[in-house]
Amino acid sequence: MRIHHLDCGPMRPPGGALMDGVSTGLFGRLTCHCLAIETDHDGVVLVDTGLGLRDMVRPWPRLPALNAGVLRFRFDPDRTALRHLKRLGISPHDVRHIVMTHLDFDHAGGLVDFPHARVHLMEAEAKAARERRTVLDRLRYRPAQWGDTSRWHTYSERAGGRWFGFDAVVQLDNLPPEILLVPLPGHTPGHAGVAIEGPRGWVLHAADTYFNRAEVHGSASAKAPPAGALAYERMMAWNPALARANQARVRELVASREAPMAVFCTHDPVEYVAMTVWSARSAKQVEGERAA
Ligand SMILES: [Zn+2]
Repeated sequence: MRIHHLDCGPMRPPGGALMDGVSTGLFGRLTCHCLAIETDHDGVVLVDTGLGLRDMVRPWPRLPALNAGVLRFRFDPDRTALRHLKRLGISPHDVRHIVMTHLDFDHAGGLVDFPHARVHLMEAEAKAARERRTVLDRLRYRPAQWGDTSRWHTYSERAGGRWFGFDAVVQLDNLPPEILLVPLPGHTPGHAGVAIEGPRGWVLHAADTYFNRAEVHGSASAKAPPAGALAYERMMAWNPALARANQARVRELVASREAPMAVFCTHDPVEYVAMTVWSARSAKQVEGERAA
């Protein structure tokens, strides 16, 4: 198995360090951190899709103007999952599965670019997205991005599996057991993390459970999370109390000695760079370090 980290929707929101904690200028940086997993027997699995080709070429009215105005996406077709994969020498036909953390417009835009892939997501997310009951839901869920929804395979939160103290869907249809869904509702009703047992151990893509590393990785004495990112996170939370509770559980997981793993979110640019570097180091190098 090999894991590639892809930024499929780079953004330059106003606010500089208030958005990302590090930028010195007027504009910050945010990513749409997706994964392409080359499995041993099941082709390529995507985790989220970021913005798609059509979003990049003709963003309106596919994307919500309010959010996209705040986030300032860089509309560049070369930043889509489709083009990233081409550069890696992977054909779009090799993508057999897409595991979705949730269906927000900045995660689901590339679904139409892979019409043959089976899409895996939580049942609660599919239901909320189809119903689009609130103003916020109509902003975040954009049916034009989904393509054929008969390929959606949904999972109940009561699937019964466990993973490091979390409920988990431990067996996705036709996928290896090393890839599982970990329900973390709050940001949206069916929001979930995706846990993967890769060449360097477990990683958890926590999606929008948090927006900035300081919310989960920082100690009490560390720098406070950036106010702009927190404000956007709050604005987009379906159930803020539940979102905070699940974020706290992920913070505990990160601090736990019993669960050594890499945990990262979708929109933090520093985590994105760190994970890209971390994953690129081959299992061989890791073996070498252990032996030394
Ligand atoms: Zn997001």
